[in-house]
Amino acid sequence: MKIASYDIVFQDVPGEVTLSLNLSQCPNRCPGCHSPQLQDDIGYLLDDEMLDNLLESYGHDVTCVCFMGGDCEPEEVMRLADRVHAFGLKTAWYSGKQQLSEYFRFESIDYVKLGPYVATLGPLSSPETNQRMYRSDSGRLIDITDNFKRK
Ligand code: SF4
Repeated sequence: MKIASYDIVFQDVPGEVTLSLNLSQCPNRCPGCHSPQLQDDIGYLLDDEMLDNLLESYGHDVTCVCFMGGDCEPEEVMRLADRVHAFGLKTAWYSGKQQLSEYFRFESIDYVKLGPYVATLGPLSSPETNQRMYRSDSGRLIDITDNFKRK
């Protein structure tokens, strides 16, 4: 699993200051993809050392780490998410799949976005969006998509 870029953002996960990790090698082929470069094999291997370096550099300034992508290796997303939890931060996963991965673990992920990107429907902040954002809560998924609606 490779990381193409990262950023500290305020809107990817409601109520959290998030270190967003933009993962490449996306296997989804959403028509009108907003970030087609992330379908390519670009960036650097996101291994334990790379993640630990990011956490040491930015982990004290955020409350959450978001894996943007990672559908090519969902097991690895879970494993690295556990490492983020061990650091003391929450975890989020933006999957482009319609269904939850069989590898998803409630104890590893605090927030999960599901649904492919459909250009005509827009992202989570769009009133017409097909995507859903959930908060993981004791083995249940609570739909919090409405928290993205622009007030
Ligand atoms: S999941 Fe995201 S990066 Fe992957 S094809 Fe769809 S829009 Fe593009």
